[in-house]
Amino acid sequence: MEKCGTNKERELVERPFKFIIDAEDIVKAVLNPSNMEISLKKIEGPLKLQGTAAYGVSHEMDHLLGSHFFEAKALWEFKYRFEQ
Ligand SMILES: [Zn+2]
Repeated sequence: MEKCGTNKERELVERPFKFIIDAEDIVKAVLNPSNMEISLKKIEGPLKLQGTAAYGVSHEMDHLLGSHFFEAKALWEFKYRFEQ
């Protein structure tokens, strides 16, 4: 289940666990909340991402490519079943 931007509900979306991405310019940003500093570093691709990073990038690529959640399912599409 994921939530996007100003959407009020979460949606069920199938995302990859692994994702490989490359670009001409890649900047790695590391945010340090204790000293309020963001460190930036240019890195080389391709990047092989897994887990949260993989489906986060997949989500953002959907925005860039205009294929935004075409197969998303809303919470109310689920069937509710009470356990006895
Ligand atoms: Zn989004």
